[in-house]
Amino acid sequence: MVEAHSNDLLIGVLALQGDFKEHINMLVDSGADAIEVRTYNELESVDGLIIPGGESTTIARLLIAYDLMDLLRFKINLSFPVWGTCAGAILLADSAPDLDRPTIGGIPMTIKRNAFGTQVDSFETDLQFLDLEGGDYHAVFIRAPLITDIAADVEVAACLSNGEIVAVINKNLMATCFHPEITEDTRLHRKFIELVTNYKIKKSSKV
Ligand code: GLN
Repeated sequence: MVEAHSNDLLIGVLALQGDFKEHINMLVDSGADAIEVRTYNELESVDGLIIPGGESTTIARLLIAYDLMDLLRFKINLSFPVWGTCAGAILLADSAPDLDRPTIGGIPMTIKRNAFGTQVDSFETDLQFLDLEGGDYHAVFIRAPLITDIAADVEVAACLSNGEIVAVINKNLMATCFHPEITEDTRLHRKFIELVTNYKIKKSSKV
């Protein structure tokens, strides 16, 4: 995997609620420049965005209150790279039947909130992640969702041993049901930085 070179790349972490600080630390440890995003102008200034874990209902409400929802949807349509983790993954799903408000959307998939019930609502497991060098990825699931259905062109990036889907990539969008920001392993943050870099190159070659 290529080293992240940050000088002209700025990655935002949506900082309305949830564990955004941990994502910032992981991005910085991966060699990227990163900022917390709460305003329209901050969202306009970044090359890609991470939506952290937290509470999807709260984040969905605050996205509207902070006037970010329409801009985010608009940018996603224009291939802006976004990575949703846990609650963030719920918000990127076109369909989240048990969320009581609209998602941001972008990935044609259905996601089920709190899919692992109360007894095992937190667990850890090793995953084989698509195109990730260096062996299995140790994933931490906390009151995690599960991707229950995907459109044919959505790429499955990781499954549990029983075949249930817990990570997908759909062009400029990535969604993981687990929490990559609370481990020491920065490989997925590096993967996202690579995705953002590729989209930035594509965009500048179009101008
Ligand atoms: N259960 C939370 C939700 O539905 C997500 C949990 C998390 O982000 N760790 O929004």
